Amino acid sequence: MECPFCSPEKDVILYEDRLVRILIDSYPASRGHLLVVPKRHVERWEELTWAEKSALVRGMELAMGKLRETLKPDAFNVGMNLGRAAGQTVPHLHLHVIPRWEGDCAHPRGGVRKAVLDLEDENLKMRERWERNRLSEEEVERLREAFKRYSLE
Ligand SMILES: [Zn+2]
Repeated sequence: MECPFCSPEKDVILYEDRLVRILIDSYPASRGHLLVVPKRHVERWEELTWAEKSALVRGMELAMGKLRETLKPDAFNVGMNLGRAAGQTVPHLHLHVIPRWEGDCAHPRGGVRKAVLDLEDENLKMRERWERNRLSEEEVERLREAFKRYSLE
């Protein structure tokens, strides 16, 4: 199977430089869920160069900044699923930037700590949530505009 992060669809790319891309997540956990992805196909954190690690962190900061500018979230969850047992489904390392709003779920306390909870029922409702969390074309356009002519390098 072709790697979705090695050759992402043009319409999900918000930012790109020599080392990283910022993509709109296709199965958003919240409205505006973005991914910071090294351009090089690397599965494990240890395989990244220091320049790539640094670019990922700067990409995270850029993604949060542009989301703040456009969608005005109240907070963020940031995280990586490193390895299959941790839930990694695409074997191309990526960092999730998940914007959060006051009241967007009933029990926000604990945030990424819930990564280990067994929530099969929740997973059954994922498709519904992905649909609900997809950005409108107007929102994507605002984000795209915010990232224009920006360079981390
Ligand atoms: Zn890849």
